[in-house]
Amino acid sequence: MSDEQLLSDVLSEFAHTLVTDFPIQGILDHLVERIVDVLPITAAGVTIIAPGVAPHYLAASNESALQFERLQTELGEGPCFEAYESGSAVAISDLRVDLRFPQFTPRALAAGLAAVFTFPLRDGDERLGALDLYRDRRGRLNATAMRTAQTLADVTAAYLHNAKAREDLHDSVLRSREIALHDALTGLPNRMLFLERLDHAMLRCRRSDRLAAVFFVDLDQFKSVNDRFGHSAGDELLVAVAGRLSATLRPGDTVARMSGDEFVILCEDLEGHLAAGEIATRVGNAIAEPFNLSGNEIVISASVGIAFSGPGKLLSENLLAEADTAMYQAKRLGGARQQIVDLQEQERSEHLIALERDLSGAATRGELHTVYQPVVDIDDGRVTGVEALLRWDSPSQGVVPPSVLIPIAEKGNLITEIGQWVLEQACDDRSGWKRPDSQELGVSVNVSAHQLMSTDYVNDVAAVVTRTQTDPALLTLEMTESVFIQDAERALVVLNELKRLGVLLALDDFGTGYSSLSYLKRFPFDTVKIDQGFVFDMGHDPSSFAIVSAIIDLAHSLGLQVVAEGVETVAQCADLASLGCDVCQGYYFARPMSGSDFSALLCQQTVDGSVYLPTLAIAS
Ligand code: C2E
Ligand code: CA
Ligand code: CA
Repeated sequence: MSDEQLLSDVLSEFAHTLVTDFPIQGILDHLVERIVDVLPITAAGVTIIAPGVAPHYLAASNESALQFERLQTELGEGPCFEAYESGSAVAISDLRVDLRFPQFTPRALAAGLAAVFTFPLRDGDERLGALDLYRDRRGRLNATAMRTAQTLADVTAAYLHNAKAREDLHDSVLRSREIALHDALTGLPNRMLFLERLDHAMLRCRRSDRLAAVFFVDLDQFKSVNDRFGHSAGDELLVAVAGRLSATLRPGDTVARMSGDEFVILCEDLEGHLAAGEIATRVGNAIAEPFNLSGNEIVISASVGIAFSGPGKLLSENLLAEADTAMYQAKRLGGARQQIVDLQEQERSEHLIALERDLSGAATRGELHTVYQPVVDIDDGRVTGVEALLRWDSPSQGVVPPSVLIPIAEKGNLITEIGQWVLEQACDDRSGWKRPDSQELGVSVNVSAHQLMSTDYVNDVAAVVTRTQTDPALLTLEMTESVFIQDAERALVVLNELKRLGVLLALDDFGTGYSSLSYLKRFPFDTVKIDQGFVFDMGHDPSSFAIVSAIIDLAHSLGLQVVAEGVETVAQCADLASLGCDVCQGYYFARPMSGSDFSALLCQQTVDGSVYLPTLAIAS
């Protein structure tokens, strides 16, 4: 076989080793073995050299090659270092006359070496080490053999490079999986790994009748620890909590950190539901023990939600969500306790979430409308104004009352948008009402504290008033004392700006809040609306009667108009009239009605052109 033929055979074998994913050692063993076959040499060896690491021989075709590799690395001297450093082949055809390696040469000669040819393992500009070809006879290698040897060295280097990259990759895949599945701060498994383990646990539960439980643990006062002692103390606390949780559990259990101050625990093979309760108690007690963080004693508690594997619970995500819900229920009950999901409460909160989802966009879908309740003069029943009240016809839930709707809108930040819609609608409707006496009727619109305090509220009102060509003096904005509770100073600024626009202000549900009297004095209200609760109680509770009487007197002394709400009976009407109340609103006169019904009501012709609803004067 020709030299060329041999070389091409060896090269194709090498190519094969690469695609079969040979490890580095396999490639080198193969190289030194085959090169001895193709070239006129007696032995071959490879030494790997890299900056900062001791050189090491990786492969040798036989004992003598091993001996010479070892000798060079021990001495730190010899042709392999020369080739490595220069990047060129070193050819010593007669070792006896070479003076380059004063330590290596005599010992090599003594061991029977006559000639040595060394080739750098080149990887681009870098070198990985050297390939040594040893011979026990003196004499040169011809040019073809030298070329062949360097080609094999280069190919080997390329394969080494690839194999190393593969191994690095393998290591880094393992490492990054470790990192991807663990929480960096506490070292605990993270959500992803937890869900993986939970999946397995649920499969096992399905095959046996054992019980598994998930505990969702949330620290109750974590935010205040962060606020008081700083974030690094918060981190320290989380690490300490992770340690305590791990110490509380059995070796097979999994503790993971979900996010922030939320931890989850998976316990399998429980004896029963009681055992889970005991575990939750242990967890709660472990957290309740004071923590000592950099000299500060910190006492916290945890809310623990528990969910169990069981029939119909096939998805890990669902089980986790159930434990999460249970934890929130524990929090709502005041924290520092454990809780198993209360399904009724869960239904209620799911219902609220569905409502909130449906409510956004309700205005654009045309599901909102306003109804109007007349406000009448208590003496003669003349309609002096009207209050706009919001209604929502939800396609899925039916008619949703404002007592349910408004808190949802406030929670979901929809109140500003919805309130603005009501204001526009009420002003639009009002401008269409034609009174026989051509006198204009005022409209009242309710404003929630969130809406009133929102940026731009005053500008929004001004824009609606302008667009609908409403005389501001015919618009009353009603608000409750809750506007003062958020930020009284800012409320005062906003109310004064509204007054400058020329609109009227009413304090709604008066008497149910806190320091009502001082607010009445300080804030620029025009009207006080006595809460319907007092009106309702007036007939059978003397103190309510006295309160209503006092409110009317006080309001009048401050120059305010008084509206009594929720007037349902003739007796209430008579009482309020006797106390000097100005105007009334209630089912006794009229229930809230649609805009068109109200418009029709206004068209009823009377002697003086005003519209009257039946009241004492008329009834008597
Ligand atoms: P509110 O402002 O005190 O409105 C009076 C409520 O009492 C209305 O209930 C009205 O229908 C009801 N009512 C009127 N007369 C009588 C009566 O004789 N007896 C009884 N038992 N009730 C009577 P509604 O429409 O359910 O509204 C409830 C609350 O929702 C309102 O109380 C108001 O605080 C709020 N609200 C209504 N519409 C809006 C709105 O557009 N925006 C905001 N922010 N809140 C609104
Ligand atoms: Ca009102
Ligand atoms: Ca009210």
